[in-house]
Amino acid sequence: MDKEQEFRKVKEEVINCRKCSLYEERIKNNYYPVIGEGSHQAKIIFVGEAPGLNEARTGRPFCGRAGDILDELLELVEIRREDIYIANILKCRPPQNRDPQLEEIKACVPYLERQIEIIKPEIICPLGRFAMEFLMKKHGLKNQIQGISKIHGKIFEPQIAAENLQGSLFEQKKEEVRRIKIIPLYHPAVATYNPSMMEILKKDFKILEKFK
Ligand code: URA
Repeated sequence: MDKEQEFRKVKEEVINCRKCSLYEERIKNNYYPVIGEGSHQAKIIFVGEAPGLNEARTGRPFCGRAGDILDELLELVEIRREDIYIANILKCRPPQNRDPQLEEIKACVPYLERQIEIIKPEIICPLGRFAMEFLMKKHGLKNQIQGISKIHGKIFEPQIAAENLQGSLFEQKKEEVRRIKIIPLYHPAVATYNPSMMEILKKDFKILEKFK
């Protein structure tokens, strides 16, 4: 299967997914799942938390107020949305934008993992706490997890335990994983509640200039 077929398969599976109760919310409210958007060749992937109302109504990630902030930050560092990929930990909107629950995360992240596997980005930027925790754990960085206020804007290089990578794929996988850098960032929505956070976000986004 080529890259585009694999992407289409993920999309179809998400559309038909009933693995958690957010599916019922989606149907009841006539919402779309937000699968992800951008380049399938992206060097940088941004991973948010979950769709909000605007996103669930349109099927597009970060198209509301947090999206306006993300756009401003991307513009600052001259990164175009069409050159990156943007996804979320959850594909469906939690009611009233409540925090994602553990069962929902467990049910949904295999889709994101496959998207990352297909794109093979060089940089993964988790936006906010939920994405940071999941992506750092996944890349063997569990013992370096701290509050987002401590590690935002730092560059982490994954450490993969050999026992997690078996067989003939070992060398190839090790190389792929070694290439990845994780750069946790504050969720852009923080600047909607606290405009002074914008300066911190801007400084952190500047780090991306050398990777674009
Ligand atoms: N917040 C997120 O985490 N993701 C979106 O897509 C929109 C807002």
